Amino acid sequence: MSLLAQFAAAVADGTVEVVDLTAPLSETTPILRLPEPFGNTVPFSLREISRYDERGPAWYWNDISTGEHTGTHFDAPVHWITGRDGQDVSQVLPSRLVAPAVVLDATEQVAANPDFLLEVEDVQQWTKANGPLPDGGWLLYRTGWDARAGDQADFLNADETGPHTPGISPECAKWLAEQTPLLGLGVETVGTDAGAAHGFDPPFPCHSFFLGAGKYGLTQLRNLDRLPVRGAVLIAAPLPIVGGSGSPARVLALVEH
Ligand code: MN
Repeated sequence: MSLLAQFAAAVADGTVEVVDLTAPLSETTPILRLPEPFGNTVPFSLREISRYDERGPAWYWNDISTGEHTGTHFDAPVHWITGRDGQDVSQVLPSRLVAPAVVLDATEQVAANPDFLLEVEDVQQWTKANGPLPDGGWLLYRTGWDARAGDQADFLNADETGPHTPGISPECAKWLAEQTPLLGLGVETVGTDAGAAHGFDPPFPCHSFFLGAGKYGLTQLRNLDRLPVRGAVLIAAPLPIVGGSGSPARVLALVEH
């Protein structure tokens, strides 16, 4: 049997499970909120064109409004000024959209401190226990934050000092982006950076270093608790928006049982 026939049979009989890491898209999907004077994205919405009525007697369809960076989405290098000469989302090679993934779990630390930042030593401790970061693969940073994804206020967790959500320290972001063979970084939060990252040096270091290195970001993932520490294969499928800086994406993980 060919490799792909074996694979299809394994999906059919459940030996390979397809885990959906994607948040449903609706008008209540949490979105990023930037303070004045910065521009903001619109919430996702549907506008009905017809629904089996005089506007279209046998068919139902909608127009959609969405930002590129809404819900579970893909960040392309041109999203950031450091990656401005890099790929837009339509230029990402399809072969890079299917890649191995590992899961680093900081749920416990984040439960104790929502502003928790992953450090180089944390990743080195992880690799000591679990092996190297995958060449051309994703680091999925599990924080437990997906439990808050049903509620915008809970998800953004902002007070008068700004949002409080977990992330990665500038040193660690630089090291991961520049010194490891990763393809990109996937997170459960609204963006790849910590809530307080506007005040870091440089600001928004995950965006700055990963996209500047021609790498990618995936946000607002869920169900990372259903993945093994290593061994999953990720299918991340953004829309090929020509000139786009990112796109809502369907992200699936293949897990072998
Ligand atoms: Mn984004």
